This record gives sequence, C-alpha cells and structure tokens, in this order.
Amino acid sequence: MPVAGVGARQGVLIMLVVPERIIPELIDRACAFGAVESVFGAMARGDARNFPVIREDIGHADALYGFKSGFDRAGLALGLKSGGYWPGNEARGLTNHQSTVCLFDADTGRLKAVVGGNYLTAIRTAAASAVSIAHLSRPDSRVLGMIGAGHQSAFQMRAACEQRDFEKVVGWNLHPEMLSRLADTAAGIGLPFEEASLDELGAQADVIITITSSFAPILKAAQVRPGTHVACMGTDTVGKQEVEAELVARARLFTDEVAQSVSLGECQHAVAAGMIGAGDITEIGAVINGTAPGRRSDDEITLFDGTGVALQDLAVATAALERAQARGKALEVDF
Ligand code: NAD
Repeated sequence: MPVAGVGARQGVLIMLVVPERIIPELIDRACAFGAVESVFGAMARGDARNFPVIREDIGHADALYGFKSGFDRAGLALGLKSGGYWPGNEARGLTNHQSTVCLFDADTGRLKAVVGGNYLTAIRTAAASAVSIAHLSRPDSRVLGMIGAGHQSAFQMRAACEQRDFEKVVGWNLHPEMLSRLADTAAGIGLPFEEASLDELGAQADVIITITSSFAPILKAAQVRPGTHVACMGTDTVGKQEVEAELVARARLFTDEVAQSVSLGECQHAVAAGMIGAGDITEIGAVINGTAPGRRSDDEITLFDGTGVALQDLAVATAALERAQARGKALEVDF
C-alpha cells in the first residue's frame, strides 16, 4: 500500500541516514552561518523555540548524557540532538564529545532522518560566534584574540576570520602546548599568530573568543579595552565560567537564548551575584531582525553569551539532510 508523507516510498516507510563521515563535504561555513542566523531570527520572532534541556550523569563510563530539542515552526524543523561527553573515548580512538541529531516529520511525528552531529556541533557553534561578530563587532576590527586551543578553537577562528578583515591572531591557553593548533589554523588562513599573556591579548584584540572548559574566570574586566566584542562560547553548563562577572556587568549583553544564558551560560554568575538581570540581555535574533539595537558606539564592550541551543543543531542538520538528498548521498532505511 503506498504511504504518503516525508520519507515514504511505494509501499515502504523509510527514514534517511546522513553519516557523520560525509557531513564535512555537505556543509560549509557559509551554509552554517546562514542557517544559524536565520534560526536565531526565528527564535526572536517567536516562530521557533527550544524545549527544556536534559543533561544527566549516567553513572557509567564517567559519561554525561543528555538531549536538547526544539521546533522551528517557520522551517518545520522538529527534532533533538542527543549525546554528551565520554572522557574515555579518546583512548578508543573516538571523539570524547558524541552527538547525533534526529529529525522528525512535523506533520506526523515519524522519524525522518538521523544525522551525524559531531562535525555539525563544531560548525554550528562557530557559526553562532561568527554571527555575533558580524552583527556586534566594530567593522574596523583588525586583531582577533583566541582564549582556548581545543577542538572547537580551530572552527571558531576560521569562521570569525570570514567576518572581519583581521590582520593578526593573538592567543592564550591554559595548556600552552596546545597553542600549536591556533598557530597552524592561523597559518592555514594566511594570518600571523602570536602567543600572548591575557594582558597583552586584551590590550590588542578587537574581538575575543573564549572557547574553553574552564570553571573559573580567565579573562578579567580590566584586561578588556573599550570597543571590544567578546564572544563567550565555552560556558554551556552550570558552574562553567570563562570571564569575570565584572566584565559581564560592564558589557552590553547579547545571547542566543536568555533562559539558557541566565541559567547555564556565561551570564549565570553575574545574575547569581545580583549584578545583572535577564532584562539586561538581548537575544541576538532581535538584532538580526532589526527589532533591537546592536552595538551603539565604538566604545562599548559587547558580549555575546553563546550557550548553544537545539535549534542551531536542527538548522544545520536540516541543511545537511537537504544537501545529502539533493546529491543522492542520504542512505534510505526501511523503518
Ligand atoms: P577540548 O577538550 O578540545 O578543549 C578544552 C579547552 O579548554 C582547551 O583549550 C583547554 O586547554 C582548556 N581548558 C581545559 N580545562 C581548563 C581550565 N580548567 N581552565 C581554563 N582552560 C581550560 O574542548 P572543545 O571541544 O574545544 O570545547 C571547549 C568548550 O566549548 C567546552 O567547554 C565545551 O563544552 C564547549 N562547547 C560549547 C558549545 C556551545 O554551543 N556553546 C558547543 C560545543 C562545545
């Protein structure tokens, strides 16, 4: 019997699989930037929302497991990203962070596709800070400061450097032996790289990206000069912190989602200390939509609290699925 609907083939209900290994060839930075910018706009219009996040210590393999889900009514993207952190994976030749995106048909609830989520996580996180740089940093920004040199940092740097005409990258990392990743990435982009103290980094950088797993402030308010744009991308969990609460209190604040920013993002500490409230934080989607001002002067410090929302994952996974289908690369599974 023929069955109508997404993923239906004559007589068979199918779902699609987009394997992790082909995703880098499907999604480029421009595609991720467009998908993330567009869904941030949809969130601010009320067309798309994220559902409560689940994150649990499963009591096995030291793993933290969870899922983030949401629905974009405008783009009809319904689904979740499931996964977490398995610290023993590296010893097995696997990435410690593991994620998979499931997309559902918004009309019927049927599972439409399973999409590898590891590469997508990196590229959508980099797209979020790139969107913030495009909308909030000074157009004449010339020096990019990188704090953090882990897996995400290379994706962050490449995406940031497409938004402004940076002439140099300066970098700091708690573990200096990891700085070669920043130097190599800058060289790949064609920019000089300099290792810097936090004082030197703050004194030179026009844009600073923090992308670490720190649980204590690294960058101090006094180290950041007027006019800087700071994208705090590492703090995505209760207790994590990358910058002093005083810096958050001093900056004009933007985020992907206010509820996450005040509870598990970089703003959580300034909120807990009573220095700021949720009303001080603007969703970047409102700036994208032109319903809230972005940077108002060359002197103000803007800070984007990129907490990471499900809708970012659904947006890039949907784009990957569409491209895989268009190129005949999606695997069909009888389901
Ligand atoms: P990674 O493990 O590859 O690198 C970790 C980085 O943090 C390294 O630079 C390391 O030197 C530094 N670091 C570790 N412990 C530190 C400490 N105590 N103080 C200061 N620096 C420390 O991790 P990654 O994949 O590059 O991810 C970096 C962070 O970004 C993680 O916290 C991760 O959860 C977060 N993240 C956020 C989003 C988002 O959407 N906001 C998405 C993905 C990852």
